[in-house]
Amino acid sequence: MRIGFIGLGNMGGPMAANLARAGHEVAGFDLSAPMPDGVTRADSAHAAATGADVVITMLPNGAILRAVADEVIPAMAPGAVLCDCSTVDVDSARAVADQAGAAGLGALDAPVSGGIGGAAAGTLTFMVGGTDAAFAKVAPLFEIMGQKAVHCGASGAGQAAKICNNMILGVTMIATCEAFALADKLGLDRQKMFDVVSTSSGYSWSMNAYCPAPGVGPQSPADNGYKPGFAAELMLKDLRLSQQAAESADADTPMGQLAAALYGHFVEDEDGRGRDFSAMLPRFSARHRD
Ligand code: NAD
Repeated sequence: MRIGFIGLGNMGGPMAANLARAGHEVAGFDLSAPMPDGVTRADSAHAAATGADVVITMLPNGAILRAVADEVIPAMAPGAVLCDCSTVDVDSARAVADQAGAAGLGALDAPVSGGIGGAAAGTLTFMVGGTDAAFAKVAPLFEIMGQKAVHCGASGAGQAAKICNNMILGVTMIATCEAFALADKLGLDRQKMFDVVSTSSGYSWSMNAYCPAPGVGPQSPADNGYKPGFAAELMLKDLRLSQQAAESADADTPMGQLAAALYGHFVEDEDGRGRDFSAMLPRFSARHRD
């Protein structure tokens, strides 16, 4: 296939490299990132999209996605598919899909889980919104870049799944960190805390797979000085997207709201920026009850 790939940063770079390695012809465009191995540099997003069967975007946010879509949609031939893999707001995902549909194109919102490691290893999970036909066309590419692609429903359903998942993740990480900080103050050994909770009803991915306490459980960013990993500001972005969606859908999400506020303080008023999102544990450890 001919693929246009726009946004070759931490995630997009290795994803595009995997597509090129699998034998696809990939034209890439980024404002600043270097071209990954096997990817041909295009001079603009428009040029990268011209003649492509599939255009993949991996961009920072919905406003940038909308601007790039304005440029690439007129360059694409009818029947081609615009597949956005960024994490953006549901409204932007749906607006771009409508715009692509009106131009005779297929469109998918296909955000990912799995992080930079998953992007490099080709083991991402894709959560996808859009039509069956568009999903079928891009499915072989999801197989190269990932280990699983779930077709969640119509346009926006992929982003909806992503922000709901990450709202659970943010809330469980905070709960796990505050429980460790409480356990410390109660004199409970952290390894014992892990041994009990990871096999009891308080277990979660945050505890079992990404333990925020260093030296306990599997290797995680806590063992690397809380270097991300998954940066606290990216978690904040996703929690704010969940709250934006909850607002527009009139959904009551008090825990998600509180998690967004806590990560907001951590990133904007404290020392959270540039640290892994599990660095909530030293934050709670250093604090006293209000
Ligand atoms: P990044 O900042 O490393 O990459 C984004 C790239 O987009 C940059 O290289 C930037 O130069 C480029 N860009 C910005 N505006 C552009 C434009 N107008 N035209 C062309 N290129 C442009 O970010 P990332 O970590 O690769 O994340 C990308 C997306 O994936 C985000 O939406 C993020 O939320 C999501 N995501 C990230 C992770 C992660 O662990 N990093 C995990 C899951 C999802």
